Amino acid sequence: GHRLKMWYSVQAGLFSKTRYVRAVDDVSISIGKGETVAMIGESGSGKSSLGRTLLRLYKLNGGSLIFDGKDITKAKESELAWFRRRAQMIFQDPFSAINPFHNIKFILEEPLIIHGVGGSAAEREEMVIRTLNEIKLNPPEDYLYKYPHMLSGGQRQRVAIGRAIILRPDFIVADEPVSMLDASVRVEILTLLKEVQQKMNIAFLYITHDISTAKYFSDRIAILYAGKLAEVGPYRDVVKDPAHPYTQALIEAIPDPDPSNRFHDKKVVGGEPPSLVNPPRGCRFHPRCPFAMDICRREEPPMVEVKNGIYAACWLHIKK
Ligand code: SF4
Ligand code: MG
Repeated sequence: GHRLKMWYSVQAGLFSKTRYVRAVDDVSISIGKGETVAMIGESGSGKSSLGRTLLRLYKLNGGSLIFDGKDITKAKESELAWFRRRAQMIFQDPFSAINPFHNIKFILEEPLIIHGVGGSAAEREEMVIRTLNEIKLNPPEDYLYKYPHMLSGGQRQRVAIGRAIILRPDFIVADEPVSMLDASVRVEILTLLKEVQQKMNIAFLYITHDISTAKYFSDRIAILYAGKLAEVGPYRDVVKDPAHPYTQALIEAIPDPDPSNRFHDKKVVGGEPPSLVNPPRGCRFHPRCPFAMDICRREEPPMVEVKNGIYAACWLHIKK
């Protein structure tokens, strides 16, 4: 496989409860301490499921999750408090992460209370104020007693980020954290995320449908297609010279140098993403691939190292 530092790894064979759909199929990925990985995929590619699986919000059915050397695959929820403290999630919709009936002070303080961090109310308030500074809601005193509806969408997402960082986590999954925000604030929020990532040395899985935003979280990039990894590698190398035809199509579809115009869920290649209920045989990308050969329709390509640190699952790169 394509594993680097074994700090956090997942091998997920994930099934939905009702239909035995494999949302993610034998995906194997490792994220190093402080490393940022951008996970790119169309809607329905399984990327959100994978992110939630990494946080043990979804159950695994097969495979394993190793976090900082500890196997948490089968740990009971009651045994996971330490993990819940160290691994956080930022959602697409800030409203799903923050209670509209609580003020900002309590919203930020709540994780501290849950995890028993910060001895006294005064200490906790200090941490809340520090966090408001970190998410740049200044001056903090103006925000403590506001309610979410009094804030803009971008400010609410800042509060959701504050909730995620106040415990000083080691790992954050951010699932499309800017796709519901106004174009004008998207780069601002991505820049803030990058800033806290660097300052706190947080490992990040940044999930997005938009490869052009991956530059903000760019140690490595992972391309997911129909629940399988198509390509993984260092961001710069992959973008400069993509190995997988699907990655090539994604990069060619980046339309506009102006980042504020780039956030639409574009059709990047002709045809529809395949159903995960009944995925195509062989290479799942073959119905849409301009290079498809006979073998692609019959046999699934294994993931191989194509060149230094770049892994792809494509028959074009396998010498037979
Ligand atoms: Fe295209 Fe075949 Fe490569 Fe799949 S394995 S991406 S169908 S060339
Ligand atoms: Mg999603």
